[in-house]
Amino acid sequence: MAARCPVCGRGKLFAGVLKFRERCDVCDADFTALEAADDGPAIIVIFLVGIFIVPFPVLLSVLKGWPTWLSLGLFIPIIIFVSVGLLRVLRGVMFTQAWNRKAIERRYKNKK
Ligand SMILES: [Zn+2]
Repeated sequence: MAARCPVCGRGKLFAGVLKFRERCDVCDADFTALEAADDGPAIIVIFLVGIFIVPFPVLLSVLKGWPTWLSLGLFIPIIIFVSVGLLRVLRGVMFTQAWNRKAIERRYKNKK
């Protein structure tokens, strides 16, 4: 959750907001050999944001009579911010879980 290396716990896991580094800058662990988390984190984010945030602009428009532009203008930045933040945390968690379970890609296993 802290976006740190699963081996040493000190090196950074991400090169940008969502892109993984190829190697740990502290212990030189190779992150490229690990299976990508693929769509798992994105699906969880879609469910969480869709259930807990998306209903609010719809309810504000329907029940309180907010204009659509106002509720969308307020909630679209919130939805983007929360989605990217959650995606980063969940990618880090799934990456660390996969690392701890040694989910190394087959092409790397065959080399050894
Ligand atoms: Zn490390």
